[in-house]
Amino acid sequence: MGDLWTVGGAAVLLPLVTTTAIVFATRVSWAMAGFTMVCIAVGWLASAGAPAADELPALGLPWLAVALCVLMASALRDSDVAHHLEARRDPLTGLRNRTALDEAVGELAAGRRAGRMVAVLIADIDHFKAINDRHGHLAGDDVLRAVAARMERALHTAGELYRAGGEEFVALVPDVDELRAVALAEALRSAVAGHTIDDLRVTVSVGVAARAGTSFDWDAAYADADRALYRAKSGGRNRVAIAPDAGAAASAARSAA
Ligand code: GH3
Ligand code: MG
Ligand code: MG
Repeated sequence: MGDLWTVGGAAVLLPLVTTTAIVFATRVSWAMAGFTMVCIAVGWLASAGAPAADELPALGLPWLAVALCVLMASALRDSDVAHHLEARRDPLTGLRNRTALDEAVGELAAGRRAGRMVAVLIADIDHFKAINDRHGHLAGDDVLRAVAARMERALHTAGELYRAGGEEFVALVPDVDELRAVALAEALRSAVAGHTIDDLRVTVSVGVAARAGTSFDWDAAYADADRALYRAKSGGRNRVAIAPDAGAAASAARSAA
């Protein structure tokens, strides 16, 4: 009868323990496992009356099953989290990649930051093709890594930096006005230009667009920042250019009329 309780209890609670371990943090999983072990023991004791001391090891198997379920489910969850992060990391620079950027943009578009300002900064390495051509692709990779690290340090906790592709980086910065966005772009630019990288003088140009979160249109903001980047390039490179806020200009014109 006692065995029936231990086996039955384990059968009922194991799926619950496994699901908990897949979904929740390790601490919660082990708390659930502990609770399950106690339930099984209480059920067994209640059904078996006062078991003899040599009968107690009968609890070992269901308890072991509970522990194994937690270990295996936690490993599964950890590997799933690792794959999720890996799929959103650029392996060369360690920055978040285009997939992560698209997700962050989706959150912005879903209005989770409604009513707040957000700035889009596009930083593009100047004459990078020439660096590859003259010094080789591996030297180019080193430059990409160093530029990413310097800009990430300069951005600090103000926003997230992504490698959007090739030698183009995008920073999404919430809660900033145009002035602060330009100051951050300038910090990115000077962090790269300030010191040589492997004896190479490397610079970036940065295009900036700062927009209100309520009417945040990623495609429009990105296109504006890209146009500003183009102006920074055609203006001589190693500089920052800001896109005029078309929405603000339109509402200013409306209120003036
Ligand atoms: P501009 O100042 O106008 O931006 O010129 P640029 O030479 O930087 O721009 P262009 O688009 O002509 O060249 C970009 C180069 O970046 C070409 C491509 O081979 C190189 N590139 C893209 N991804 C990587 C990478 O992962 N590693 C290396 N080493 N090079 C890359
Ligand atoms: Mg470039
Ligand atoms: Mg480019």
